[in-house]
Amino acid sequence: IEQQLLGPQEIRELADMLGIRPTKTLGQNFVIDPNTIRRIVAAANIKPDETVLEVGPGLGSLTLGILDAAQDMVAVEIDPPLAAQLPHTIAKFRPGSEARIDVVLNDAMKVTELPKTPTALVANLPYNVAVPVLIHLFAQFDSIQHALVMVQDEVADRLSAQPGSKIYGVPSVKANWFCEVQKAGVIGTNVFWPAPKIKSGLVAFQRRTQPLSYVPRELIFAIVDAAFAQRRKTLRAALATWAGSSALAGEVLDHAGIDSSLRGEKLDIHAFVKIAESAAELNI
Ligand code: SAM
Repeated sequence: IEQQLLGPQEIRELADMLGIRPTKTLGQNFVIDPNTIRRIVAAANIKPDETVLEVGPGLGSLTLGILDAAQDMVAVEIDPPLAAQLPHTIAKFRPGSEARIDVVLNDAMKVTELPKTPTALVANLPYNVAVPVLIHLFAQFDSIQHALVMVQDEVADRLSAQPGSKIYGVPSVKANWFCEVQKAGVIGTNVFWPAPKIKSGLVAFQRRTQPLSYVPRELIFAIVDAAFAQRRKTLRAALATWAGSSALAGEVLDHAGIDSSLRGEKLDIHAFVKIAESAAELNI
């Protein structure tokens, strides 16, 4: 039998009961549409034995949908009244399921330990910190094999952008270091309360089965940051400060077999890996 999900009335009642007004700074836009929840959960491809990490459960709209699909959950919420209410909401709408979820009151960007080992991440992310939260979680929790997140549509496009496109940038490359990334849909504004000004997008991530390189992620990410900090410059110029001089940057790029007159926006993650490996080999 299909279980009840939260609609506009339930969300309003919960908010009134807690006396909360959604805040912009915490990116609080709550989903009030059960069909959207079904869509997100279907796109997340959760296997029944999985442990799902949800960031920002809010009033629990998506949480209930995930609980119906996964065996175990851990939810990280930064806002104390929302974190405190969540177990009660679950007890009311999914009696008996409270035992299957741990609620952690913390900033998802700072969390380094979880009471359970998540195999998947499913979240309607707080929009202003979506990319740093994602990067932090993929870096911190190797156990996360796949993810489905809702973010601003423009951020969804950035995360899944291909080299050479205008919106390709640091988030695209870093996400690609960890995962294969695919856009998985667009969501309108009217499924939220309060309604945001811009559309949202779904993005699906599948963790790479093997790390792309032996060199540390920090080295690769430093090169990526340097290459895009000065997008309009050639790689040789953009990497000069990072390498110590433009001559050294040229040497690293030559050794990597990469044309130093290109711009960073043309390079995929594999090319950035080559540059980092070249720097490691040359001890730069
Ligand atoms: N999952 C709910 C839904 O879909 O209706 C709420 C999503 S709302 C877009 C984002 C949620 O993330 C809010 O509940 C907010 O309080 C929480 N949040 C904001 N910043 C956070 C952070 N740094 N760490 C954890 N949660 C955060």
